[in-house]
Amino acid sequence: MPELSLILPFHNESAGVHHLLHRIYPVLGRLGMSYEIICVDDGSSDSTFDTLIHERQFDQRLKIVRFARNFGKETALTCGLQMAKGQIAITMDSDLQHPPELIPELIQKWREGFALVHATRASRKTDGCLHRLFSRAFYATFRTIADIQMPEGAGDFCLYDRKTIDAINALPERNRFMKGLTAWVGFKQGTVPFEVEPRDSGHSNWSFFRLVRFAFDGLSSFSTLPLRIWTWCGALVSFAAMAYGMYLILDTIIYGIDVPGYASLMVGILFLGGLQLLSLGIIGEYMARIFTEVKARPLYFVSEKVGFE
Ligand code: UDP
Ligand code: MG
Repeated sequence: MPELSLILPFHNESAGVHHLLHRIYPVLGRLGMSYEIICVDDGSSDSTFDTLIHERQFDQRLKIVRFARNFGKETALTCGLQMAKGQIAITMDSDLQHPPELIPELIQKWREGFALVHATRASRKTDGCLHRLFSRAFYATFRTIADIQMPEGAGDFCLYDRKTIDAINALPERNRFMKGLTAWVGFKQGTVPFEVEPRDSGHSNWSFFRLVRFAFDGLSSFSTLPLRIWTWCGALVSFAAMAYGMYLILDTIIYGIDVPGYASLMVGILFLGGLQLLSLGIIGEYMARIFTEVKARPLYFVSEKVGFE
């Protein structure tokens, strides 16, 4: 049994594989721990898988899982944690934005008694302006409405001890927002700050829309406030409507019938219509996720596995 499992998700990263592994080896070598490196090829359409197989000739501790198609990074990490045999597991991006040299610090923190160690980004220098604005808004919203606390700047560069790995593997949900799940299981969490490096090669897999989707996945997995808020909105609007109704009745009694009223009618109808569509949309978002959960499909399919007994 290895002591450490390093989990790396790959999606079209063939150009960086060699460089990545050769920055990782010296770090792991100095640790004096036995290790395995679990590479999850998340349905790459380039030669990532062949490059990994080639690299395996030089180190048999490299284990490779190939997904049948692209299932997404969260699923790749889930798969890695399920396959990990180590006492601890570390997940890390494979584009060298997460410096492998930080691994000893994560392990040091684990030795101090933390069951989960997040490497948190000290700044967001490598992100664009808009991206930064949205992630700040996301974290602020998350902190306010979610039922759990997630460390600011936490990404998927993270150390899990065996307890945490088993806990996360025991969660059956399909909508896997890993940063949230790790916080949710609740064991003692520590953080180690680091500077995110620019991408080594290739380009980011995240479009703006994918990030928005991801953000709502996170919020909806850990908060029901977007659903419940409509009760309050509904109550408020009904109260306002009642007050306005009363005013209209009094107005009619005192001043008589007054035909013009188009503007107030239109405003009322449009406002209520908009509110109803919005609330229906939010309910739809949650329902879509319930739909995914009740179908209970397997999270992923593996097309090839190399190096696992
Ligand atoms: N990744 C993955 N599956 C995907 C998208 C990304 O396994 O569908 C991997 C990718 O290879 C990289 C990590 O997840 O190792 C982070 O992705 P990326 O660098 O594109 O995201 P960013 O750093 O821009 O947030
Ligand atoms: Mg990246």
